Amino acid sequence: MKIYQALVGGQWKVSSSERFLPSYNPYNQEEWAQIPLLTNEEISEAVECAHRSFKEWKNMSGLDRATLLHRLSDLIEEHADYLAEIESTDNGKVIRETKNQILFTARNYRYFAGYADKLLGEAIPLDNRELLDYTIMEPIGVVALITAWNSPLPLLANKLAPALATGNTVVIKPSEHASISTLEFARLIEKAGFPAGVVNVVTGDGKAGDALIRHPLVGKVSFTGGTQTAQVISRAVSEKLIPITLELGGKSPNIIFEDADIDEAVIGAVAGIFGASGQTCIAGSRLLVQRSILEIVKQALVEKTNKIKLGNPLDSETEMGPVANINQFNKIIGMIEEAKNQGAILLCGGKSSENSNLKGFYIEPTIFYTENPKVNIACEEVFGPVLTILPFDSVEEAIHLANDSVYGLAAGIWTRDIKKAHRLAQQIEAGTVWINTYRTSQVGTPFGGIKQSGFGRERSWHTLYEYTHMKNIMVNLSDNKRDPFSMQTK
Ligand code: NAD
Repeated sequence: MKIYQALVGGQWKVSSSERFLPSYNPYNQEEWAQIPLLTNEEISEAVECAHRSFKEWKNMSGLDRATLLHRLSDLIEEHADYLAEIESTDNGKVIRETKNQILFTARNYRYFAGYADKLLGEAIPLDNRELLDYTIMEPIGVVALITAWNSPLPLLANKLAPALATGNTVVIKPSEHASISTLEFARLIEKAGFPAGVVNVVTGDGKAGDALIRHPLVGKVSFTGGTQTAQVISRAVSEKLIPITLELGGKSPNIIFEDADIDEAVIGAVAGIFGASGQTCIAGSRLLVQRSILEIVKQALVEKTNKIKLGNPLDSETEMGPVANINQFNKIIGMIEEAKNQGAILLCGGKSSENSNLKGFYIEPTIFYTENPKVNIACEEVFGPVLTILPFDSVEEAIHLANDSVYGLAAGIWTRDIKKAHRLAQQIEAGTVWINTYRTSQVGTPFGGIKQSGFGRERSWHTLYEYTHMKNIMVNLSDNKRDPFSMQTK
């Protein structure tokens, strides 16, 4: 059993309350580690440390910040196997995914390292030629970074890399269900040589997160998690009127047209929903299929799905691991039962795994078919390995079904008709639209949602604006006297 400590102002500490939260390995349901349950005072101390470190960090040259971020990327790459193993042990994701994600994480820090010394302002030519005007990008201050359990390190990199590159200091609060990889990662922050207090990691449950976001010295919140938590956080943060980035859930449509390459589309559908056991915000959990190819697609999908190899997440051959925790397991099983009761037709899966060697939170990859887009399984986020297939007849109907959701995170389109694909991409309400691919990520592309999937963007250079204020500086070069009683607009 490993006992972990939180990182506050460069010091590793357990809570003065001596209280801990257990971390379970979802593969065997065994408690394998403990994280400290910090008190509100200790969370406050972390924010104050970040606040004290802000001046030094923001005034450091961009080149020095970049050097530290590159060093961090090197260390992540060096420790990729270890971090991937920790992640797979803590949240049950298969090692072939976590290894890949850790390298993607390193790439993300490297990408933003490249911007740390290129935070450009602009000189703005004005009507009045005797005014010199320019802008500068300034860091916000202390930023609270709150993450979910499904991909702790990549989700954190989406926030931490731009926050540090732009000169902010941070307090991180990972999910109570999967904090360990973030605490191990914090060791690398230390090893890379970041000044104490620039990066702090506090641990605990939602109450710890609540204490963090409400702290008066926190100047921005960046949150990844569920829509309901986001509503609570938004209400709390609105009192302080500080900026917030929200990366939330989805019920993303993956649309297969009759003119698609069906083999590729079926693989894309499997990648969209059964990758990471469906525990991904961008899961293509609504598969919209044109009626003329419905039976072929159903058959091909069921065949592929029945061959998915469930097993130990640490085994490189395993394709699907357990779901991450008991709450998640119970929620998914409950939604499967509800779907059956509401008349959705079960095509495969539908229960916990019957393989007696698997003692963890395993759920069979499951596919439902329904013609009723209003059944819960067709509109609510499951966050598990459950796909719902819905038929459509025309392009217009596909667009209507795709957009008939409170969410707007991602969408997929499978067709060989390039004009149709681009026309549709423009009409679909989502932050990301994939054409003839799904669940493909690159650090240079903006990621985020609309509607109840949140707002603000992560990854890509646009994110620099999420972590900075733009300041305008105007200089009078004229020797003329002005009229003090009229605003100078010329
Ligand atoms: P969650 O909302 O339960 O918890 C997320 C984090 O918020 C945790 O660290 C939790 O401790 C903290 N928290 C809970 N209550 C809080 C409060 N009142 N104040 C401050 N912090 C609080 O979400 P989860 O179950 O960890 O994650 C699953 C959800 O995350 C899904 O809906 C999924 O779609 C979403 N998600 C979105 C993205 C994205 O980038 N859009 C990525 C991954 C996951």
